[in-house]
Amino acid sequence: MSGTPRSRPKGTQDFVPPDSGRMLHVEDVFRRLAELGGYQEIVTPTFEHTDVFVKSSGEDSDIVTKEMYSFKDRGERDLTLRPEGTPGVVRAVIENRLRVPCRLYYVGPFFRYGRPQKGRFREFYQVGVEALGEASPLVDADIIYLGTEFFRSLGISDCTVQVNSIGCRECRPAHREALRKFLLDRKGRLCADCHVRLERNPLRVFDCKVEDCRAAVQDAPTPRQYLCKACERHHEQVLSALSRRGLLHEANDRLVRGLDYYNRTTFEYISASLGAQDSLGGGGRYDYLVGDFGGPDTPGIGVAIGLERTMLAAPVAPAPARRHLAFVVWLTDAELGAAQDLADRLRADGVPVQVDYDARKVKGQFKSADAAQAACCIIIGPDELAKGVYSLKDLATGEQREVSSDAVSEAVRALFRD
Ligand SMILES: [Zn+2]
Ligand SMILES: [Zn+2]
Repeated sequence: MSGTPRSRPKGTQDFVPPDSGRMLHVEDVFRRLAELGGYQEIVTPTFEHTDVFVKSSGEDSDIVTKEMYSFKDRGERDLTLRPEGTPGVVRAVIENRLRVPCRLYYVGPFFRYGRPQKGRFREFYQVGVEALGEASPLVDADIIYLGTEFFRSLGISDCTVQVNSIGCRECRPAHREALRKFLLDRKGRLCADCHVRLERNPLRVFDCKVEDCRAAVQDAPTPRQYLCKACERHHEQVLSALSRRGLLHEANDRLVRGLDYYNRTTFEYISASLGAQDSLGGGGRYDYLVGDFGGPDTPGIGVAIGLERTMLAAPVAPAPARRHLAFVVWLTDAELGAAQDLADRLRADGVPVQVDYDARKVKGQFKSADAAQAACCIIIGPDELAKGVYSLKDLATGEQREVSSDAVSEAVRALFRD
């Protein structure tokens, strides 16, 4: 199937002004919070060797079996557009021999071939942090808190966080066996996918969205019931650190998240405004992943948040009627040089400026200023040039007055109201 050059591929979206500005704002809020937490930005490729994702998420995870954009390049290499952030970051930390502990954050596009629906796209944007080399349960709580602070900063007030522990290599085998036995007795009620999950990783049955499967695991043994002493203690400390901050959280014994690399803490943010089943993001601990990638044993934990759904859940501030933009309007060719100089000077002062060089008439230049939703026009004609002043017109009110050359930056800034 081929598309037309006039429509975007299914599951993608364009961010056009002013929405593109909203997206940047949301990213900035996240960057600021991450930097405050001591995280530094990491930028990794948007595609990796396919093995990076297969070895981390798990060969039979939904991501790997159904959702990856995988391809062979012209050199016959198996590559995949990144479906999530953690594996590439972990690969980069090992490859660049970063010293741990290290705290990293990322912002960027990710790709999954899923069924497009409200707030879910095939190319989507995520922000996330990864803390490598820190094992304390207080770090788990800090990271969970960072996510809730992000949502709070954006005015999302109905977000709760669900928390669970899925144990470690010591305590998981006993649970796995108990769960397998339990599910074998109910095999007839499970979907075809879950038959495979049952053999390879029965924990995944908890993630199945099929109604019969959800019902079948209602009373299934949960990882929580099988936690070893150390995992139990870790989990209690995470929960008490969240409670101490007054953070709204609820236990969800069935929250396992569909990735092989998680252990102990898993968590997910749920916003009521998106509907019960939909999460804004989540994360978990992955104390074995660095070792599994061939690096030195290093604990890790991370969170990833989807920006499209975050923007759906966040209240939209009314867009300002006028942009923070000034137009320099010139009357005759004799003022063109002066118009350019003024634009340069204002930009050096940090004032956004445009000049329409094509419109030969003032009326046309005013039209351009209005189309660009500029806040004001600064007019230079022969009179102004002779007197060393400018005429400043407020496009919101229509008021016009003279300002001296020295005062022009300040006068323009005063018109940038909101
Ligand atoms: Zn354990
Ligand atoms: Zn199922």
